[in-house]
Amino acid sequence: MSIIVSEIPPEGLSIDCTRDGSWFESRAPQETARRYRVDEILFHCRADRSGRRVSIRGSVEIHCSTACTRCLELFSLSLRGDFFYAMTPVQAGYEQDSDTELAEGDLEAGIYRDDLIELEPIILEQVLLQFPISAVCSENCKGLCPVCGQNLNKGDCGHSTEETKNSPFTVLKNFKIAKKGS
Ligand SMILES: [Zn+2]
Ligand SMILES: [Zn+2]
Repeated sequence: MSIIVSEIPPEGLSIDCTRDGSWFESRAPQETARRYRVDEILFHCRADRSGRRVSIRGSVEIHCSTACTRCLELFSLSLRGDFFYAMTPVQAGYEQDSDTELAEGDLEAGIYRDDLIELEPIILEQVLLQFPISAVCSENCKGLCPVCGQNLNKGDCGHSTEETKNSPFTVLKNFKIAKKGS
């Protein structure tokens, strides 16, 4: 899907679309596609033109599932983010280095050529930006027992009791270790 720049009306252009899991799998880096199983991507953007400069602002919403980095259980999560691109046409005769064009904050600078702005790379880039480095099923996830590997959210295996975890001595011990290491 692409936007034809010269056909963007004065009032701007609004685009809504969805992408499914197979779209994501065939485009995302392998490692990311293995970690996140995408059910649906909802993409919305608005393009406004001023001369040959085009601003594209919008939002992306992802419904997916992934394995918790603490307890390894699969869980569903929804991610959402906003974006804003300032696009300029590539200058005839030389290629602009898009890396040096990156502006600060959430504004991204981009280039387009031949009167066309391709939306697929924008959708993919914005989807990939939303994935957290480590996803946990819940802030209170207890993770796995380091001794037997039992999922501690499902019950205590007896290797680490609540008493030892909450004991004031444990807190004191950890504090000392942390101080020594620094
Ligand atoms: Zn978990
Ligand atoms: Zn255990």
